Amino acid sequence: MSDKNYYSILGVSEDASQEEIKRAYRELAKKYHPDKTRGDKKAEERFKEINEAYGILSDPEKRKKYDQLRKMGAHHFAGQGMSWEDLIRHFDAFQEKAHARDGGGPRFGFGGFGVDIGLDDLFSSFFDEGEFFRRSRSGRQAGQDIHTEISIPFRKAVEGGPIELTVPQQGTCPTCHGSGAEPGSTVQTCPVCRGTGMVSESRGAFAITRPCVNCMGKGKVIEKPCTTCNGTGTVTVARTVKINIPAGIEDGTTLKIAGEGHRGIQGGPPGDLYVTVRVQEDRFFKRKGSNIYVELPLNLAQALLGSRVKIKTPYGNKVILKIPPGTQPGHKFRLKGQGIRTARSVGDMYVIAKVEIPKHLTEQEKELIRKFADLQGMKY
Ligand SMILES: [Zn+2]
Ligand SMILES: [Zn+2]
Repeated sequence: MSDKNYYSILGVSEDASQEEIKRAYRELAKKYHPDKTRGDKKAEERFKEINEAYGILSDPEKRKKYDQLRKMGAHHFAGQGMSWEDLIRHFDAFQEKAHARDGGGPRFGFGGFGVDIGLDDLFSSFFDEGEFFRRSRSGRQAGQDIHTEISIPFRKAVEGGPIELTVPQQGTCPTCHGSGAEPGSTVQTCPVCRGTGMVSESRGAFAITRPCVNCMGKGKVIEKPCTTCNGTGTVTVARTVKINIPAGIEDGTTLKIAGEGHRGIQGGPPGDLYVTVRVQEDRFFKRKGSNIYVELPLNLAQALLGSRVKIKTPYGNKVILKIPPGTQPGHKFRLKGQGIRTARSVGDMYVIAKVEIPKHLTEQEKELIRKFADLQGMKY
């Protein structure tokens, strides 16, 4: 979380009314909207901040907690990768827990305890949950995996081949190289815990060890957080990853691309990228396993007298299909080996005859059909 003052971001006083906050937000949002500031990174960042500020201050409940947490000195969490939203959420969870622990008695109000104790307890609760500790602990860390989904055309799935994908990857901040400190500012060993990140205090007969609030358990104190990454030490960059679609891939297949997940911290190994491939439906070709099904419309003459028709396979090849005289509707012609070819199997293509009956006949045509029926001995 950065030590952002949402009031100054919106340019309103700390006792501004909801109406004033709304008005300030509307004006700023208009001014910094990405549609107007196209490509201006600074303006984009500003727009994000404005929305973040409005998200908290427009909600009276959240605003009250934000005010209280600031009074408690929670801005000490600055640069620990926690947003105010995170912090408020944690505070709620912490209060719930405290409430349950106290036997569900009368719920204490927000800020019902002393300022110092409140911050200590809040911090300890992050520590208990592990999340804060994970985030704030410095040193070598493996990157997280990324899970994403792409949709590819039917033909691409059949033939396979390379495809490019843009993935937001977290990596070490290039400005501070992951230290979280603004270049030129100092990073000191925490004088309170002497760099251990933990402090002990005795309470009667017990010695209690808890994370050091002065350095947030890091063991180091950053004088000035890096402005590029808000002191988190990490930034997110959109990276183009080239992946190879195996020929004949099935809808729903997940591909693993090793080492293309989030970057590791301070030399830690990167995570992996998992891409679930969705195959778009085709108008003609329907797929079942490695077999392909298509419908072939035949007119009455073709079905009765036989014909030769050109059929396109899923690979774009043309094959001649011989339609024998007397072909029945629904008859399946099998084109061996013209289905989907994968590394492991070769499917067939099935062409299903769909005989089309003329909907309208002239008097002359009807007469011919009647003659035909009489010759066949058909009753009608
Ligand atoms: Zn940085
Ligand atoms: Zn410390």
